Amino acid sequence: MSTQAIPIKIYPRLTRGRFNNWRVIAVLVTQLVYLGLPWLTWNGRQAVWFDLPGNQLHLFGLTLWPQDFVYLAALLIFCAIALFWWTALAGRLWCGFSCPQTVYTEIMTWIERWVEGKPRQRQALDAAPWSLRKLRIKGTSHGLMIAFSLVTGFTLVGYFVPVREVAAALLDGTLSGWAWFWLLFYAGFTYLLAGRLRESVCKHMCPYARFQGVMFDPDTLVVSYDAARGEPRGAHRKSESASGRGDCVDCGVCVQVCPTGIDIRAGLQYECIGCAACVDACDTVMDKIGAPRGLIRFATENSMAGRVAASDIPRRMLRPRVMVYSALMLVVLAGSMAMLLLRTPFIVDVLRDRAFLVRETNDGWLENGYTLRLVNTQASPQRVQLGVEGLPGIRLADAPVLTLPPQATRTVQLRVQASPESAGSGSHPIRFTVVSLTEPALRHSEDSRFIGE
Ligand code: SF4
Ligand code: SF4
Repeated sequence: MSTQAIPIKIYPRLTRGRFNNWRVIAVLVTQLVYLGLPWLTWNGRQAVWFDLPGNQLHLFGLTLWPQDFVYLAALLIFCAIALFWWTALAGRLWCGFSCPQTVYTEIMTWIERWVEGKPRQRQALDAAPWSLRKLRIKGTSHGLMIAFSLVTGFTLVGYFVPVREVAAALLDGTLSGWAWFWLLFYAGFTYLLAGRLRESVCKHMCPYARFQGVMFDPDTLVVSYDAARGEPRGAHRKSESASGRGDCVDCGVCVQVCPTGIDIRAGLQYECIGCAACVDACDTVMDKIGAPRGLIRFATENSMAGRVAASDIPRRMLRPRVMVYSALMLVVLAGSMAMLLLRTPFIVDVLRDRAFLVRETNDGWLENGYTLRLVNTQASPQRVQLGVEGLPGIRLADAPVLTLPPQATRTVQLRVQASPESAGSGSHPIRFTVVSLTEPALRHSEDSRFIGE
């Protein structure tokens, strides 16, 4: 095995600047959303709740049933195209600012920096033999990381079981075995991936890093070193004339702040997650030596090669590949919205009574039995009239009017009767109708068969 294959722990130096500020904001916003969403209530119920036993997904006022999972598929397709779109525009900006792995690694690094100190102190601590002091410091930092990981696991379970119930069950010691399993499973993954493996996940495990190259083109914005301006690199000494030297003073700060430990001056590498820490670091150096910022900056291959003026970069964002991705996203979005608007107000499952095929009533008519499972997908209770059609004179023995609670299921037994003249031998297509008396525009029908003599 070559020495390059041995993972070396990286101690990135803290950097400050506008991109670091954006990363902090991204961490806070994503965690606020992830940790806060389960605690929101909507119409007296948890706003976002994957109710697996009830086969329902509650998203604020909207309830999705298994029949509606086409919307989840559409959402996943939309997210995949959005990732392609975003990558074509701005490279791995997703990785650097909002990928959960980056966000959690950033939080773990905050904890580590807070407890263990600056990179040099952390390196010295790691190299030092085990002692009570090392045990105390390491125990504290990893204890805090594990505590945070447990919070993420608790929150995950709170999306599937009402979070207040999970909290109460935790407090009184009645949390179920499955809830414990998923809580610890997710917490374990958070700690392992973000607290231990960190940037190794981005470098060696993430498939996105491997195939992102095919989504790039010469007009994609990536973190780039301006070699034409920076080279030949070297220290600027006051006694020397600056003429003939590039702006790179070869201070190595851009490498020291890089979480994946690469030197962006060697060109774009798959390990680069686009976090822009090197941009902030180099801007600070440029400020100190009185040179313009942007020796390392977000730029395109075409602009770096002088084929496109920097002012033309925004215009070239609207290129065919980006337009195609945009059009696909619009199609998926518009299709999903249209389907959502035309969504059936009731779900009706019809099951023929297997106990008897057909029987004769006292007045000589033919009768079939059915079980109807009715789901009210509306957020309000619905008073509904059931009916049947499809054969002359066909009728329900009882024409029940039911009240369906909001987003709830009811099962009802029905007897359908038809005259022997209209229902000859064999099976005949019929249709059950459900019409809302509360909102008459809401109606639904479901096909079935009637067995004749
Ligand atoms: S931070 Fe800037 S000046 Fe320093 S080595 Fe990197 S590119 Fe050169
Ligand atoms: S090279 Fe720069 S942008 Fe890329 S990972 Fe390293 S610090 Fe982040």
